[in-house]
Amino acid sequence: MKVLKFGGTSVGSARRIKDVAKLICDGTPKIVVLSAMSGTTNTLVEISDYLYKKNSDGANETINNLEKKYMQVIDELYATEEYKQKTLKDVRAHFDYIRTFTKDLFTLFEEKVVLAQGELISTAMMNYYLLENGVNSVMLPALDYMKTDKNSEPDTAYIKKNLQELLDKNKNADIYITQGYICRNAYNEVDNLQRGGSDYSASLVGAAIRAEEIQIWTDIDGMHNNDPRYVENTAPVRQLHFEEAAELAYFGAKILHPTCILPAKLNNIPVRLLNTMKPEAPGTVIFNQSVPRKIKAVAAKDNITAIKIKSGRMLLAYGFLRKVFEIFESYQTSIDMVTTSEVGVSVTIDNTKHLQEILDDLRKFGTVTVDEDMVIICVVGDLEWSNVGFESEAMKAMKDVPVRMISYGGSNYNISFLVRSKDKKMALQSLSKYLFENK
Ligand code: ADP
Ligand code: ASP
Ligand code: MG
Repeated sequence: MKVLKFGGTSVGSARRIKDVAKLICDGTPKIVVLSAMSGTTNTLVEISDYLYKKNSDGANETINNLEKKYMQVIDELYATEEYKQKTLKDVRAHFDYIRTFTKDLFTLFEEKVVLAQGELISTAMMNYYLLENGVNSVMLPALDYMKTDKNSEPDTAYIKKNLQELLDKNKNADIYITQGYICRNAYNEVDNLQRGGSDYSASLVGAAIRAEEIQIWTDIDGMHNNDPRYVENTAPVRQLHFEEAAELAYFGAKILHPTCILPAKLNNIPVRLLNTMKPEAPGTVIFNQSVPRKIKAVAAKDNITAIKIKSGRMLLAYGFLRKVFEIFESYQTSIDMVTTSEVGVSVTIDNTKHLQEILDDLRKFGTVTVDEDMVIICVVGDLEWSNVGFESEAMKAMKDVPVRMISYGGSNYNISFLVRSKDKKMALQSLSKYLFENK
């Protein structure tokens, strides 16, 4: 069975929901993972903000506006009064539930419940639409099988067992619909897999059922060779190795959630990125083969902080790096890039929650300097070290960009540059010019 995930824009209007329904009803059973309609989760975040600030007027107005949008979509989507009424009743109940939070204490726990409503609503709407059109559609409630453990990692054994039980109970369905993004945590509370996490849901579902393929349907024809939001004339990359796609997703290619590749890779399930607006386009396939001797794509990760620790005695001081890394570990702060010299080490982090404490501890070992507002530019492809010339091509593209750090050789698939965020666009454009244009 295949798993197909449709993102926010793919279900962003009545028209789009109808298009997705047409696309998925091809006679073969499949699991369909849906995001909330586009803009919904952002609005739910906004509502939560009002609720944290105890501004119930602001919250109510935003809830009412969002509800109004849904009423219009429902009016347009269903042909029969029966299904219109069924859906209205259901969706109204979700909005009334959100309204109850204007009266009580609002904490992180309630926020997660509010954030979950978008996917609960979009899947209910799709399910009713399919049923109205005679499709035997069955809902697989994500809150009944998708779970994280005490480390906020997916509890894969639980997911597999509970999802399989749900499937066994509902044999012979044409389509199984389920929510992306939402889950329960180790304490059985409603939780989520982080913003953009529906991709992750799809790959966890795919891994749990050993799917034949995981498809991520979105608003663009596959993974492009650079970020289309900053660079013109980007082009789709047709094939990527799991490792290449994972690097790109981690380093900012928004089309994929950073963690979504791992479950697919571990189970050797191909991931296909496809365009809902152009279903016939080939998209990108991600699997365990690399197109050799080729740079595939560039991505950028924002909000990076670089920290340099200089110690005159580093050369002789074995154990220095361990001590430095232990400080980051003790504050549960992961490091993205590392470069070393005889006198010091530079690292980058994206989580600055404990920056002050980290800096205080690091100062015991040497002189510390910090550069904020940086960006990691990641060039991805077959960069195995015996392939001569590829890293120098990437370097050439950076000739006019002030580069703070360079990292190469950590994997066979990437070379990373750390630059100021104000130079990000120039760096991305220059890399496209040197690496992809006229090739
Ligand atoms: P969805 O709502 O379907 O999950 P997203 O907005 O999360 O969609 O991801 C798709 C968007 O990712 C595209 O519209 C595009 O602007 C952006 N994007 C950033 N980098 C890339 C890339 N390298 N290739 C394709 N899309 C990218
Ligand atoms: N709806 C969630 C978000 O906007 C999850 C997703 O779209 O993947 O982040
Ligand atoms: Mg997304």
